[in-house]
Amino acid sequence: MVFWGPDFSELQQEDPEIAEIILAELERARSGLQLIASENFTSPAVLAALGSTLSNKYAEGYPGKRYYGGCSEVDRAELIGIERAKELFGAEHANLQPHSGASANIAAYGAFVAPGDTVMAMSLSHGGHLTHGSPVNFSGKWFNIVSYGVRPEDDLIDMEEVRRIAIENKPKMIICGATAYPRLIDFAGFRDIADEVGAIMMVDAAHFIGLVAGKAIPSPVPYADVVCFTTHKVLRGPRGGMMLCKAEHAAKIDKAVFPMMQGGPLMHAVAAKAVALKEASTPEYQAYAKQVILNAQALVSGLADRGMRPVSGGTDTHLALIDITSTGVTGAEAEIRCDAGRITLNKNAIPFDQQPPSIASGIRVGTPSVTTQGMGIAQMDVIADLIDRAVRSADPQEHAVIAKQTEQLVSDFPAYARG
Ligand SMILES: *Cc1c(COP(=O)(O)O)cnc(C)c1O
Repeated sequence: MVFWGPDFSELQQEDPEIAEIILAELERARSGLQLIASENFTSPAVLAALGSTLSNKYAEGYPGKRYYGGCSEVDRAELIGIERAKELFGAEHANLQPHSGASANIAAYGAFVAPGDTVMAMSLSHGGHLTHGSPVNFSGKWFNIVSYGVRPEDDLIDMEEVRRIAIENKPKMIICGATAYPRLIDFAGFRDIADEVGAIMMVDAAHFIGLVAGKAIPSPVPYADVVCFTTHKVLRGPRGGMMLCKAEHAAKIDKAVFPMMQGGPLMHAVAAKAVALKEASTPEYQAYAKQVILNAQALVSGLADRGMRPVSGGTDTHLALIDITSTGVTGAEAEIRCDAGRITLNKNAIPFDQQPPSIASGIRVGTPSVTTQGMGIAQMDVIADLIDRAVRSADPQEHAVIAKQTEQLVSDFPAYARG
């Protein structure tokens, strides 16, 4: 059998406009440094599954219980993916159908709470996600959200405060996990508090689940009622979401994903998630996950040595939040200056930020992409130097010099080999 798959020349002939953009984006990504903490470079095998004819198949429902005929082959892909997820994470049940991390979170709300209920989550300004209660998100519009944050002394989650707020507000669901929290989360502590107030414990592991898969940090799976995550961050799979839960919640979770919140699954993405789970089960991936953390720690020290303050003093994960107030440059300006040096990172609010989020006093950096490229600790100090110079300079000529040096660095560690 021959794979009927992407032949790029067909796209170039039929739609040169879009083909050109795809090539330009590939060039952008591999000719600069990608330090967005939530991005990665997925494998050719995952991309092949994504670009397959599985995209054509309607498969509403679950393996063996579909609303459509002709699902015998996609059933096999989904069952393999579910088994791999259960095995890799030691979970009792897995659902691979959420279209994204936000969709997985929506399904968790759908399974366990109803509009008007009280839900407790990390405050957005201290690193929580939009789906944790932002007033512009469904979570903030439809639920009574109570928030916890970090302590001003050390930027760490204060478990005593979490407990006090939980007892005071009796939430039906407590969410832990964040988009910009560099430290480990006390899952056992959250479990105790959830039990004390009779709440469901949901872990939003979108950012760090890849580190759990690689056995580089402790797993939330033994503690949580449900773990929601994305498959495209450190985990290095296709863009998408996934959920793990205890067997007792399996039917509830499955019904919340479909038919409550979603329609037909993206079977090409489900198959690609299965491929990524296989990759994440290897010793090579485990070594990768550990290196991601070592690189993040090296990058943080490099920036700290150059006078920037790591929020919470460092990192235990793949990301760091850096308070750049001491440079006199805002997060927004730093993002633009780094971009001019071909360094892609994002501005980020820091806890107790004096600036509005659109300006911000910090930057967020992550090492999943550069580690996939094969960079190590030695390169992190070079990157810290490039960031430091880019942030502190307002001179376009200096930014052009930095851009050249960045290109040189990444050309030694190509993201996708040039044909
Ligand atoms: C990235 C992220 C999400 C959302 O994932 P999408 O795939 O963008 O919907 C949700 N929660 C957290 C904590 C995240 O970091």
